Amino acid sequence: MLSKGVPMPTTMPMISLPGGETVAALGQGTWHMGDSAGKRAQEIAALRAGLDLGMSLIDTAEMYAGGVAEEIVGEAFAGRRDEIFIVSKVLPENATRRGTIAACERSLKRLKTDRIDLYLLHWRGGPPLTDTLAAFAALIEDGKIRHWGVSNFDTDDLEELWELDGDGCATNQVLYNLSRRSIEYDLVPACRKRRIPIMAYSPIEQGRLLRHAALKEIASRHNATPAQIALAWLLRQDGTIVIPKSADIARVRENRDATRVQLGDSDLAALDRAFPPPKAPRPLEML
Ligand code: NAP
Repeated sequence: MLSKGVPMPTTMPMISLPGGETVAALGQGTWHMGDSAGKRAQEIAALRAGLDLGMSLIDTAEMYAGGVAEEIVGEAFAGRRDEIFIVSKVLPENATRRGTIAACERSLKRLKTDRIDLYLLHWRGGPPLTDTLAAFAALIEDGKIRHWGVSNFDTDDLEELWELDGDGCATNQVLYNLSRRSIEYDLVPACRKRRIPIMAYSPIEQGRLLRHAALKEIASRHNATPAQIALAWLLRQDGTIVIPKSADIARVRENRDATRVQLGDSDLAALDRAFPPPKAPRPLEML
């Protein structure tokens, strides 16, 4: 496979945030890290290995393992804070003006840092968006977060957001992979028009994609793995950040090597046949 016998990784592709700052296009997810105390050392080792390979954008959330995933991120990168770009998220039930600020402060403690690089509203909930945005503005003012964004926002949520704040949002983190292409119909074009990167979560559909025959076939042609093909397909999309999660160092290396895969026209056509692009709008899916 690509990850074997080729010690030097390719240059990490970078994606520009709306303000011009660049971040690694291939980062690391942390959902389910911290669920089992016995796996903690392995999870920390995997995150560190990913950073060593340039996967410096780390996605976490106050929700993951009730905050333990954030503690793991804090422990994994102790002493290396300046090398990473931390993304974390406030739960909608906490996303009032005061609640967002309190949640962020709890996250900062668990992460053992003084700032979160990008702070997202995890999904739309009860509190008015104006209150969450006011809290994000206050947190930026205080230097506790550097950018803010949203997650699981469909096109109507984005319209509402843009009415309130046309320029501030740095990303929309959504479910996007070969088997979940409905966002290509309207949400991706809407974000591209505003130059807002999409952050593709569950990029290998939590492993379920890897059994697909078309992926296996293309992978064998490239001497690659199905995961590498699925990730390479996302990485070639404009303005798309991809955040696979793995607590296994060999798989982290494998995922990192997806940046080597160059899909050709015949591969892309085969993937379109196996995973057809949308022909009509559909509500945004979430996991
Ligand atoms: P994913 O990254 O598509 O898949 C993760 C699963 O695939 C894990 O079970 C992992 O197991 C396995 N895996 C990883 N690389 C592999 C490889 N090369 N070969 C075989 N199996 C592999 O799913 P995800 O964790 O749902 O999504 C990624 C990240 O996105 C999350 O961790 C989280 O940070 C974020 N997310 C955000 C939202 C949101 O609502 N905003 C929702 C879902 C996810 P091992 O760990 O054992 O390798």
